[in-house]
Parts: sequence; C-alpha cells; structure tokens
Amino acid sequence: MKLYRTVILCLIFTLISCSTSPELFFIRSYLGIPGTENIIETEQKIDSEPRSFPLKTKEIPQNIIFIIADGLGIGQLTLMFYDVSDFAPSKFSNLGLISVHPSPPRKVPDSANTATSMATGVKTHRGGIGVDENDEPVKTVLEYAEEKGMLTGLTATSSIAHATPASFAAHIDKRSKYNEIALQMAQSDVDVMLGGGIDHFDGEPKNYFLNKGGKIIYGIEPDVNHSLPLLGLFSDTHLKSAEDGREVKTLEMAKLALKLLNTSFKGFFLMIEESQVDFAGHANNSEYMSAELQSLNSVLHYCLDFQRKNPNTLVLFTADHETGGMAVEDTKEGDLHVQFTTGHHTANLIPVFAIGPGAEAFSGVYDNTDIGKQLIYFIQQHK
Ligand SMILES: [Zn+2]
Repeated sequence: MKLYRTVILCLIFTLISCSTSPELFFIRSYLGIPGTENIIETEQKIDSEPRSFPLKTKEIPQNIIFIIADGLGIGQLTLMFYDVSDFAPSKFSNLGLISVHPSPPRKVPDSANTATSMATGVKTHRGGIGVDENDEPVKTVLEYAEEKGMLTGLTATSSIAHATPASFAAHIDKRSKYNEIALQMAQSDVDVMLGGGIDHFDGEPKNYFLNKGGKIIYGIEPDVNHSLPLLGLFSDTHLKSAEDGREVKTLEMAKLALKLLNTSFKGFFLMIEESQVDFAGHANNSEYMSAELQSLNSVLHYCLDFQRKNPNTLVLFTADHETGGMAVEDTKEGDLHVQFTTGHHTANLIPVFAIGPGAEAFSGVYDNTDIGKQLIYFIQQHK
C-alpha cells in the first residue's frame, strides 16, 4: 500500500515538473522545482526606495523625438483608440504615468509650467516659460543639445511662440509676452522652427532672424532644399484646426523637420507638438478632438517608422496635461458619446510612451520634472 502511494506521488510530481501550464507555475515554484527561477526574475521587483532620476540606462539615444499632445489624457486616448483603425500608441515598448502639477500648492497646471518642467527638470509657476519659481532662467534640454553640436527643432500647430514650444527656447516670467518670446526664439540657436505666429514675429524678431542669415518660409514645398536656420510661419497666430483644413499638416511639418535634422552625425533633438487637442478640450468639442487625434495618430506612425529605420532614435510621446476632464461613454447601439466635466485643464495624471534606446527609463510612475532630468542626462552623455 505504501509503495502504491509513493508511485502515485512520484507521478503527480513528475507531471507538475514537466508541465508548462501557468496554473501550475506557483506549485512548481513553491516546490522549488528547477526552471522556475528565470520566470521569477522577470516578475516586477518592488523597490523599497523611490527611483531617483536621471536613471542610468543600457543605451543612450543619439536622436530624440519628443512628441507632446497638448491636453491629452486617458479620455482623449480612449476616443483615439476607438476612432482609429491602427492605434499608434500600442506600438511603443514602455509606458509610464506622470504627475503634472505646478509649484505647490496648486495641482492644476498650464502648458507653460508643464512644458518648462519637461524641458528643464525643474518645477515652476503657471505661466513661467523656461524659468524656475523665482523667474530665474533654467537651461533647457534643447539648449544642452545645441551646446553638444546637435541639430534642434520645434514644430507646433499653435503659434510657435505659444507656451509649449516657447518653453524649450525662451526664458520669461509670463507666457503672454508673445513678442518678447518671439524675439528670444529668433535670437536662439534652434535650427528649425515650424508653426504659426506671423503676427508675433513681425518687426524686430523677423528682422533679427533674417539678419543672422535665417530663412523664413510661409508654406511647405516638399522638394525644395533649405539652409538652416529655418523658420516656417504658416498663419498669423495659430494654424487652422485639422477639421477646418490646416494650412500645413502636423505630419508635413514633422516630415520636413526630420529631413532637415537627420543630417548630423552628432544627432538631433526635435519636439513636435500636436497643440490643438487642448483647444478641442477647452471648446468641449468632440468632432474637433477626433480630427486632432487622427492627425496625432498619423504623426506617431511616421515617427515610429522613422525609429525603425533609425534605431538610435528615442521616440517619447506624452502630453503636458489633460484638458476638458473628458470621458468616453456609449449609447445602447455602441456609438461613442463624449462627456466633458470642465472647459479648463485638470490635474489628471498623464500617460507617457517610449521606444528606442533609453526607453526603459520612462516606465513607472514619476513626475514631469523627471522627464526633463532624464532627457538632459541623455544629452550630457553625448561626446
Ligand atoms: Zn490649455
């Protein structure tokens, strides 16, 4: 009888050992059966200490494409997910979540404080452009890149002097000082700037830019060669919405910028803003939103394709903050129904997507200043 029981037990043990069934995984690891160690190692380790940025990564990207969809949160991403047939964010390898508050005690941010934090690694007050909370200028990732001899670019579907692009190349206490921001941007060493803002550059900024040998274009002809620095101004202030037939598509600007910047062996830094997801949120307008998200999806696909062809490129995609407190509901028939809870920004946490060398740094939960710290670290590692 004893022998019979031993044989049965041996049989069960062998079955558990040889099985690859996930249900039996815990029994195998409990019994200490060899072959389970590797699987355990890939399980997430719980760190006792919060991570401190910048993080050392296996590789350092030569090129950085930083895509910011202004005003995009989980609600907007959900609408995009159901609206498009080929949801580009699913192609990224690493996903994180950031807090976006300005300096305490406020929780709800604006595009100036958030873009400044991602460009410099420091917190600032709402409205602050490339400055800390005491309005002292702070060097941006784009300026670090220029110091290293990398090529740099900014594109936006708002005025190029608007808060998000401005925070990478200007330093001023108030985002509304558009003409001073435009002058600082004209004086900066950014190689390619594409967006709206003819009115903001009129006069001194435009003259300064031309006198230093810059070229200004008012439309994009894909086959024309351009010298650098290049300033493309495609409307008086902001470009038209995607729904109303944008003068120059976000994708066309991205294509031109990448063509001009991907020419240096030292690499490049490019920030692409899909600015008007935010405008659609302020307007509580889901059709406006859908068209902007389609535009964003096509730019993401293009940049992901560029990354596949140029694997030394990090593509980082996030938002500065969420706008509209947007949620996606449905009807009984399954049609999407979008609800907004505010016409302003919210304090919602924001998703971050990354792929390419260094992408692993952007997994987890952290603060928007950590993005700035990490990007500056990458640039500083360049020879
Ligand atoms: Zn806004």
